[in-house]
Amino acid sequence: MSLESHLIASGGLCSNNNTMKSPSESAFVYRKRENETNYDSDTALLELPAADEKGLCRDAHTINNLGSRNEERKALLESIARRILQCLGEDPTREGLVATPERFASAMLYLTEGYSQDPSDVVESAIFRENSQLVLVKDIEICSLCEHHMLPFIGKIHIGYVPNGQVLGLSKLARIASIFSRRLQIQERLTENVALAIESILKPQGVGVIIEATHMCMIMRGVKKSNAVATTKWMTGVLQEDTAAKKEFYSLLNR
Ligand SMILES: [Zn+2]
Repeated sequence: MSLESHLIASGGLCSNNNTMKSPSESAFVYRKRENETNYDSDTALLELPAADEKGLCRDAHTINNLGSRNEERKALLESIARRILQCLGEDPTREGLVATPERFASAMLYLTEGYSQDPSDVVESAIFRENSQLVLVKDIEICSLCEHHMLPFIGKIHIGYVPNGQVLGLSKLARIASIFSRRLQIQERLTENVALAIESILKPQGVGVIIEATHMCMIMRGVKKSNAVATTKWMTGVLQEDTAAKKEFYSLLNR
């Protein structure tokens, strides 16, 4: 029995309960709405470009393709969200849920918008020739989705670098963090990706990125540790070596 026919036969419930209603008497049977696109999800998904093994979209074709196909992706996400609701034993047509797949699809596209953005595009006009010592922006708020559970993790990112003749507009550091946050990943790789992006854009003497975050997948499930904060760092160049700049970085961070 296919998943679909099982869902219908069990009244939309994933159970073998003896009290299960027949499809005709069940309130849970999902009837396709008029105008609803019937995506064969496998085929449609195969046509969409994918991120690479580090969750990055490096090539312009992938970035542009994702951005220009938002309507199609939204319809597919809506259709998948209805299936998820059915699988949870819910009725996607009941009043409280009827607009949920649409809201879910919009939220997912927003939260993963970073896949269709290239950090080097957004900083283009904000690189200035300047000799400066350590630059540090602390406590930039971030929220992202972990790739293991697609649940949020939220916290702060601190970004520092020692310039090598050029600096970046300060707000662009937060912008770079935001682009990488809006993708699926783990905190360790988010830290690395932000550091490596700044390194490739500015070619500084060193970069230091620290993220402190709490993970909903730890708080709401599993070990249920509500106050556990995960700290990750990625340091390069003079901020990785044992230098005065590194000491200054930590002292400005009050660490
Ligand atoms: Zn997780």
